[in-house]
Amino acid sequence: MIGNTAQRYSAWALLRARLAGPGYWRPLWSGAKLKAAYDVVVVGAGGHGLATAYHLARDHRIKRVAVLEKRLVGYGNVGRNTTIVRSNYLLPENHYFYEDSLRRWEQLSRVLNYNVMYSPRGVLDLAQSDGDMVALARRGNAMRLAGIDAELLDRTGVLRFAPELTASEPRRFEIVGGLLQRRGGTVRHDAVAWGYARAASALGVDIIEDCEVTGLRTAAGTAIGVETTRGEVGAERIVFAVAGHTGMIGEMLGLKLPIETHLLQAMVTEPIKPLISTVLVYSHPHGEAYVTQSDRGGIVMGGFLDGFPSYTREPQWYRLEDVVQTAVALLPQMAGLRVLRHWAGTNDMTMDGSFIIDRLRYDNVFLNGGWCYGGFKAIPASGAACAAFVATGTAPDLIRAHGLSRFKTGHLLDERGNGPFPARQ
Ligand SMILES: Cc1cc2nc3c(=O)[nH]c(=O)nc-3n(C[C@H](O)[C@H](O)[C@H](O)COP(=O)(O)OP(=O)(O)OC[C@H]3O[C@@H](n4cnc5c(N)ncnc54)[C@H](O)[C@@H]3O)c2cc1C
Repeated sequence: MIGNTAQRYSAWALLRARLAGPGYWRPLWSGAKLKAAYDVVVVGAGGHGLATAYHLARDHRIKRVAVLEKRLVGYGNVGRNTTIVRSNYLLPENHYFYEDSLRRWEQLSRVLNYNVMYSPRGVLDLAQSDGDMVALARRGNAMRLAGIDAELLDRTGVLRFAPELTASEPRRFEIVGGLLQRRGGTVRHDAVAWGYARAASALGVDIIEDCEVTGLRTAAGTAIGVETTRGEVGAERIVFAVAGHTGMIGEMLGLKLPIETHLLQAMVTEPIKPLISTVLVYSHPHGEAYVTQSDRGGIVMGGFLDGFPSYTREPQWYRLEDVVQTAVALLPQMAGLRVLRHWAGTNDMTMDGSFIIDRLRYDNVFLNGGWCYGGFKAIPASGAACAAFVATGTAPDLIRAHGLSRFKTGHLLDERGNGPFPARQ
């Protein structure tokens, strides 16, 4: 007999599925019918909306929760990002939060009983100058003081950890060292959306696709529900988790939020044999690229934002060129590869680059947004913290600094490399 037990088993499972026809595949989340009213309505079935709904049901035992999604589960940025997770932030308000998230990523496949393919392959920020090294040392020291793993590497250490950088071809810009977070890495983005959707649905959350929220219903100074393309839905509490559409929600509520929507693109090459063993983050004088290799072998790359506000998903060609140039300057051995696909997502950029979880105009309306281009890694922590806020009415310590009032008082969480420019995943 050919193959090992696992191969024989999966071949048999595929054959059975083929013979049984479409009925064999069970949907991951139930085809719930929209009810007239809920305890909590979460708007947006991206990572943050689904994780918030999951924690509302699991941690706070809230029974009647719905997630209303205008398109499909995973249609937004949760399914469009470059899958990088890390907690290597400088500011305490950020690194404690993202560390909470990274710890949750480490457990998430077990918690959701769904393989999200967390791959702690390390995230390596590269330095090209002594000035870069000083900045990386400062960030690494801040992390270590908070008990978060960080290693400052010299050139030899970098080449030992990422031998793919020891290319025989000459490199345009020198690498002098780097900051490594070994527990950082990648997580399969679609699996995150599907895993949370499945787990939330199993706890009784209604996931309603093709249902756009078009307005907020209010009475006597409080929100009483939402208007949708499928009619009115009553709600005691409402959470907006709509990522790149957060500015529109502001308009819907008559507010001007400190948010702009910008495009960020990413691309993947044809598959090749294993070349890159980690996540490489590299800024050179003309651009930036973060480069990793997918399980299928494609080289996945991203870089700066497109540079102007837009709701379209039509990316700019010149940005693609910048990323490719930077990636090839880093790994000249990639030069002959063909780009197979590229795509873009709309990011809700706050002006200090940090996220917002807060009440929005009404006591029972909440915003989970402003994730900029780094919100994928935040999903597990954001879901738990936002659900706690919505359920108890008090923001947990982990997110207390991330309210909207900081834009009034000037207590900004302005972390270099997080804001609109320059981008960094
Ligand atoms: C190219 C790219 C690369 C990125 N790479 C990384 C990375 O490597 N690491 C990282 O941490 N982050 C990364 N990000 C950022 C990250 O993907 C986002 O910050 C995060 O996914 C946003 O949160 P979300 O998953 O909830 O958003 P989304 O998945 O966008 O969810 C929002 C949902 O709300 C729905 N919606 C909008 N308006 C309405 C409405 N009125 N009614 C109902 N539904 C509505 C949308 O259809 C959408 O499904 C990247 C982003 C992009 C675009």
